[in-house]
Amino acid sequence: MEAFFSTPGTSDSITFKIKEDIRNAKKHIYCAVCYWDDEDICDAIITSKAQLKKLVLNNGLPSTGVLDKLTKNSINMVFLGTSSHPYSNMHHKFIIIDDILWIGSFNFTLNAKERNYESMIRLEVVKKKESINKVIDTYKKEFNRIWRLGEYLKDVVQVGKGTCNSCKKVVANPFEHYLIDIIYSEGNLSDIVFFCSENITLYPSAESVFKCSVCGSNNAIISGNIKHIEELSNEYETIIDYRNYGATVCSKCFLDGNYR
Ligand SMILES: [Zn+2]
Ligand SMILES: [Zn+2]
Repeated sequence: MEAFFSTPGTSDSITFKIKEDIRNAKKHIYCAVCYWDDEDICDAIITSKAQLKKLVLNNGLPSTGVLDKLTKNSINMVFLGTSSHPYSNMHHKFIIIDDILWIGSFNFTLNAKERNYESMIRLEVVKKKESINKVIDTYKKEFNRIWRLGEYLKDVVQVGKGTCNSCKKVVANPFEHYLIDIIYSEGNLSDIVFFCSENITLYPSAESVFKCSVCGSNNAIISGNIKHIEELSNEYETIIDYRNYGATVCSKCFLDGNYR
């Protein structure tokens, strides 16, 4: 375990060392970062020989050269939150490079590199250092959880704006905004669908669908929109009968992939 600092006006040791780790990567690069306008680390990731590259970025990330470059080079990216919304901001700054975890205050920006006081800790998997290995594992798990959410949000949230494709509102909390439905076919999972809860109407008797089908909690759909659903329930706008579709799952069970 080692600590790194950047100080305005001095050479940036953080970027230098992260780039070195990226160059040496063989297996994977999992990166979650809020702001990014510095092409240095971007270029390093693009040219890295790591087999798997996955980035979780912020929906409010301005369309910079970095985003264009990553897109052109087919780097896998998903987007969460938006920095323009106070209740939903993908604010992580961590990167997992093979068996190394970098975590701290450093975004991949020119400001972080040249103008700010920043710190990062570099943890590396070492035999017999169980506590460190556990922390790195926890971060891998967290990365998988947010990646998974991002993959589903891709279909329902507009990248760059963070707005719902269906109702056009900003999605502050995806778990309040969407009803997550697991669809089974002949007993096996066939699909997971995110329904905009602004636009769905349930039969009044469908109250049981609010229970998570996995853990039994009542968190499968969130209270904010229930009133709206009840108001509409006598009209025949969009009636979805969940008994035909499948089972509903809460945010925690969804993120943990806890339902197969
Ligand atoms: Zn919506
Ligand atoms: Zn649950």
